[in-house]
Parts: sequence; C-alpha cells; structure tokens
Amino acid sequence: MCPDLIEQLREQQLVRERNGLLRSRLTLEGSQETHISIAGREFLAFCSNDYLGLASHPALIEAACVGAKQYGVGAGASHLISGHFSAHHLLEEAIARFTGFPKALLFSTGYMANVGVVTALVGRDDAVFADRLNHASLNDAALLSRAEFNRYPHLDLSVLEQRLVASKARRKLVMTDVVFSMDGNIAPVSGLLALCEKYKAILLLDDAHGFGVLGKQGRGTLFSFDTFNRHSSHIIYMATLGKAAGVFGAFVAAQSEIIETLIQNARSYIYTTATPALLSHTVLKSLELIEHEEWRREKLKQLVAKLKNELQLLRWTLLPSTTPIQPLIIGRSEDAMQVSNALRERGILVPAIRPPTVPKGTARLRISLSALHSEEDIERLVMGLRELAQKT
Ligand SMILES: *Cc1c(COP(=O)(O)O)cnc(C)c1O
Repeated sequence: MCPDLIEQLREQQLVRERNGLLRSRLTLEGSQETHISIAGREFLAFCSNDYLGLASHPALIEAACVGAKQYGVGAGASHLISGHFSAHHLLEEAIARFTGFPKALLFSTGYMANVGVVTALVGRDDAVFADRLNHASLNDAALLSRAEFNRYPHLDLSVLEQRLVASKARRKLVMTDVVFSMDGNIAPVSGLLALCEKYKAILLLDDAHGFGVLGKQGRGTLFSFDTFNRHSSHIIYMATLGKAAGVFGAFVAAQSEIIETLIQNARSYIYTTATPALLSHTVLKSLELIEHEEWRREKLKQLVAKLKNELQLLRWTLLPSTTPIQPLIIGRSEDAMQVSNALRERGILVPAIRPPTVPKGTARLRISLSALHSEEDIERLVMGLRELAQKT
C-alpha cells in the first residue's frame, strides 16, 4: 500500500508540474514590507495583504513586546477553560464599538471563524447559499456543516432569489466575500440584505479584504454605503486581523444572541488554544492606527489610480477593481507563471494565481498594493510589465 501511495503522489506531482500548477513557498528572511529579502536578494513585493503597511509598524512591535511582558507568550488553554485574557476582552469590546455591532468574538484565524459560524448556525435541515467566487474557507465551512450547499453564479441576485424562493430549508444562510479576494470587486451587499430580509435568511459577510481599508475610518466596507442598514439583525459580519490590521486573527460581530451561540457551539472556537493575548494587545494598537491614520487609505487610493492609469494600454487587462487588489488577467496558467517568473528575475514579486484558486483560463497576476509603496515602486512594476508584454 505505502510504496503504491508514494508512487501515486509522485505521479500527481509530475502532472501538476507539467500543467504549470506546482506551488512553492518563498522564504522571507526579514519582516513583511514592500521590499523583502529572500535568499539574500532584495525584491520589490506586490504580494501581501498588509494593505496599510502595519505588519512591521514600530508601534505595533512595541505593543507586542509590552503584551508579551504582561501576558506571557502562550495562552496555555482554550477560551472556555483558562485561555481568555483581559486583552481578548478589551479587543472584543473595541471591535464591537468600531464596527457598530452589539457584540464581537475573536477567532484564531479567518478560516476558523467562517467554519465556526457556519457549523454553529446551520446543519442537516438547513441550506447555505454562496457566491461561486467565495473564499475557500466559506466553502469548506458549508461542506462541514452538512447543510444543503447552493452556489449561485458570481454576484447573480436573481438566481439567488429563485433558489431562496424554492428552498424548503428550515434555516437559510447566505454568505459572500464582501471584497472578493482574487478579483478585488465588491459584492452587492444592499441587494443581498434585501433578499435576506425578504426570505428570512442570515447574511454572513466576510470582509477580510475591506476591514481597515474601506469605509469611514477603515471601519469596513459596510461603512462605504450611505443607504445600507449595516445594523440589520440579519447580518453577521466577519473580518480578519492578519490583513490590513497587520497582526493575526479574526473576529465575528453580530447580535448578542448570535455571539453567545458561537461561544457555546462553534467548535473551531471551543476546541482550540486561544490566540496569545499579546496579539490581541497588539491589535488594540492597530485599531487606533486604522482609525486615525487616514493618510494610509488616501495613499492607497492614489496608488490604485496610478496603476490603473498606467496599465491601460497593456495587452493584458486589469479587472475593474477599485480596491488595493488589482488582478491582471493573463489567461493560461503557464503564461501567468512565465510573467511572474520574468518579473522575479527583474527583482519584482507578483504572485501568479492559478486554478483551482481561480476559474480555468483566468490565471492572473494578483497585484496587491500597500500604503507603503512609493510612486517609483509602481513605475518599476509598470515598466517591467510593459517590457514583458512586448516580448512574450
Ligand atoms: C484570508 C481570508 C480568510 C482567512 O483568513 P485567515 O485569518 O487568513 O485564516 C477568509 N476569508 C477571506 C475572504 C480571506 O481573504
């Protein structure tokens, strides 16, 4: 059995390699910045989700040190045993205030938050309705819940409505990325909420890429629409703390009854060691920077506008995203890899994103911008892409 298995795995690996689908890891030697060091060489990087440039901010490093001195390094237990610290508590209160929901609950990661919410709230007699381009963690959550799993075409509210009308499920949960992680576009949240209110469904909004970046003072995408009832009791708002917030972790914000149910039922909350309190202490500082340093969001807007403007006449096109996620569609996986590798030879890192992460034939370079990029950084990327567009 085992030699066979090893042989099969080797075969699969060869097939992946032939199809340009082999994935490999970069090993960073220093901190996450716009210029990173790999194997002794410096690269200009457009890869991270550290949109505001907080991951290596001196004030956050200092907060982490202070947090470690106060709370130690390891939480030592799960939240329901003895791993729940005052820093967790303070951060949950701060997030509830910042997002305007009655209560918030911290999870160790966004993946675990999505798994926890969906499996705690729906089961066999229920149905989940999901945008086809949602993040993998939402899909996995739905499968694990054993609820009926309906995936509707990307952004298609009329198909979603037909399916909601037809559903006989006891409980219905609609879930979507708010900012789609590989496309950078924004879900029609007003329309989704209207449908959820009409058909008595829960609306789980995953704002991993909007929190900190979009909305007034970075309060998240729901704060970027004037007419939207962001405090509807139908909404469960989830976001991560390892992207724009620059640290680690995730939270869910919602009505108190929902949060209390998660504490009692969410297995990815209950059966895992709490995140070190020093990280929550650090995120408290990060929230202050998010709220008060508007220049980071302004700078991002300028950089996005510059990139879109300068890449207009390229043979590859950017998707119509207004967020710091700027995907350049190349098409075939091999070609996307080739462009990514050629940029790397020029000292520029932009990841190629291939199926199954994105639909077949839409392999792309996922350019992600940080408030700490300079105009010259953008110009260097644009020059590299222009040269490659002529050559390949
Ligand atoms: C990154 C991401 C997650 C997972 O968050 P982690 O904290 O990295 O586990 C969930 N949903 C979306 C849309 C994401 O982009």
